[in-house]
Amino acid sequence: ALSPVAAFNRIGEENAFAVLARAGALAASGRDIINLGIGQPDFPTPPNIVEAAVKALYDGHHGYTPAVGIEPLREAVAADLLRRHGTEVSPANVIIVPGGKITMFAAILMFGEPGAEILYPDPGFPIYRSMIEFTGATPVAIPIRESNQFAFSAKETLALITPKTRLLIINSPANPCGGVTPREEIDKLVAGLLEHPQVAIMSDEIYDQMTYDDAEHVSLLSYPEIRDRLILLNGWSKTYAMTGWRLGYSVWPDSLFNSVRKLAVNCWSCVNAPAQYAAMEALTGPQDAVASMMKAFDERRRVVVEQLNSLDGVSCVTPKGAFYAFPNIKQTGWQSKPLANALLEEAGVATVGGPDFGIHGEGYIRLSYANSLENIESAIERIRKFLQ
Ligand code: PLP
Repeated sequence: ALSPVAAFNRIGEENAFAVLARAGALAASGRDIINLGIGQPDFPTPPNIVEAAVKALYDGHHGYTPAVGIEPLREAVAADLLRRHGTEVSPANVIIVPGGKITMFAAILMFGEPGAEILYPDPGFPIYRSMIEFTGATPVAIPIRESNQFAFSAKETLALITPKTRLLIINSPANPCGGVTPREEIDKLVAGLLEHPQVAIMSDEIYDQMTYDDAEHVSLLSYPEIRDRLILLNGWSKTYAMTGWRLGYSVWPDSLFNSVRKLAVNCWSCVNAPAQYAAMEALTGPQDAVASMMKAFDERRRVVVEQLNSLDGVSCVTPKGAFYAFPNIKQTGWQSKPLANALLEEAGVATVGGPDFGIHGEGYIRLSYANSLENIESAIERIRKFLQ
């Protein structure tokens, strides 16, 4: 039998997809399953965006586009960043990519090699660690703590930097905990990074428009002192309910842009053309669909948190961003993965165990509240009955 090179034995998984598959199989066999497992909006893509893609197809946009994306879309991204963050970005530093994941893949490949250390949040998006291990670099976990409202601690993050650190991955608002790192903490982090000029920074801001209450999303783009080593990851998947379109963008410093452009030429040629026209409509068309999705998420968030906190042995920090709740289940007597598994198999509720997001995830499970209020309420009732 054939076997791939060793790197493929080190590459990981995103278990939320395995949960989705298992939930689908159970549902297909006739079981009534409520899915709070997968991280995607339950809304359809707004119709004006869908229409823009259809129009692009009829208009004949069927061929390759430039590898870095169509020019008006790169300009629209730059204009959107200027409008929302007050920061000038040149379209020449923007690349359109097939999904948020591609940016992390590119950034981690660019800095990961044996001997290099890469800092990533734990609990955090599981692909960070997987890709770091794929490159042979050493993954260094930044603990994301409930006691700190699941925000990054500048002090704790900076203390992990060594002369071998090549890349720091930041994610706020965050998956899976819903934490939003406050401005003063990001100020401290950036100030501390000035002492470590060898460290590149990848800021995953895919949930940047998904904040609640008084929480403020602070973009790392708004710090000119680190712009020459900042890679900004963003995209359309979450904000515009476009996970299946495979669309994303990133902003790269001048020194790295040609490398990511060449990677695009080698790997994906360009993002599918009609999707790029749809992305342009998403950024330049009416934004009311985003506002109404956020209103629905906020309402569900309040219900999820209140209901979870009413369960015996469960306590849940109020998430300030994204669409996930990350309740502490330590007092139930269950471990995370067996609980998530039993909830799916016995109670018909799909969730993801905290350890699927890192070693610091033990004692927690992740619930995505991208589901109807009605389903969320009955899911938590099922969990209540199960725990009793
Ligand atoms: N970054 C974070 C933190 C995410 O949670 C996700 C998706 O779940 C992504 C990036 C990837 O997004 P995309 O579907 O656009 O690849």
